[in-house]
Amino acid sequence: MSALDEPLRFDARTLLAGTAPAQVTLVGAGPGDPELLTVKAARVLREARVVLYDHLVGREVLDLVPKGAHCVYVGKQSGCHTLSQTAIIELMIRLARNGRAVVRLKGGDPFIFGRGGEEVLALARAGVPFEVIPGVSAAQGAAASAAIPLTHRDHARTLVLATGHLRAPRARPGGPAPREGSSCPAEPDQLESGEGDACTLDLDWELLARPRQTTVIYMGVSTLPLICEQLIRHGLPPGTPAAVVERATRPDERTVDGTLETLPALARVHEVKSPALIVIGAVAALRAQLVPAIAHAAARQTA
Ligand code: SAH
Repeated sequence: MSALDEPLRFDARTLLAGTAPAQVTLVGAGPGDPELLTVKAARVLREARVVLYDHLVGREVLDLVPKGAHCVYVGKQSGCHTLSQTAIIELMIRLARNGRAVVRLKGGDPFIFGRGGEEVLALARAGVPFEVIPGVSAAQGAAASAAIPLTHRDHARTLVLATGHLRAPRARPGGPAPREGSSCPAEPDQLESGEGDACTLDLDWELLARPRQTTVIYMGVSTLPLICEQLIRHGLPPGTPAAVVERATRPDERTVDGTLETLPALARVHEVKSPALIVIGAVAALRAQLVPAIAHAAARQTA
């Protein structure tokens, strides 16, 4: 029986007795390699009784959770949500108010494109105590593993993390509100056919196209052509080095190297799929010098 099926007892006596709600702990699971978990995250997972986990959390990380604990998948993939974000938040609050300590396990870091901010705000409003245990974000995992220093005094003094995920349409005045969790077409060809014309890649292109900067794009596989085109249009040279790192820190990690001009076609040829991270800027070219000296990465260079 999963924690979702269990009867949750909200008896007034417990509430009237002033029993404090249990704690929700947001835990960053890191980018995939279980050895990249923090010591604290590993301890909390070993002591967990109820775990709500996301799509990108690896099996080896979940294996740390004791056998008798409830592990509930609440993951969201583009266009396929087991539970809406509102339902996840409600479930956490209900469990905590029922005296169940909850571990909310998220890929990477909970506060980097992980909706951890929304969740802790809701917990705070509901009077539920929480703690956040940071995780190694995909940008850090990919940088280390694919040998791309994200900053370098000669090449990049600014680092920008951005999302390449298309924004769902906003409600129009007088029109129906978009469904919660409604998402945009995953593939750019759908966009070009006009189906996705209400979806936008709402990014500050001037900021992203600044020189001497590294720009890392999360959730950008399907919008890669659009991103490269816009960055060139906003002033970055077409020859700017760019790489896409797929499944960083996992045994099947791959990296495709190119430039703003060539990367979209190379990513298509190599059939790059999510989860993957796009790294744009001069630092991406340093890989060529570094990879031969990194034993574990040598076999992973694709293009
Ligand atoms: N909170 C997470 C990000 C979640 S958004 C973090 O801090 O890493 C999901 C996106 O993260 C994916 O679409 C992908 O762009 C990126 N990502 C997560 N894991 C990854 C991995 N192992 N390799 C490459 N990109 C990854």
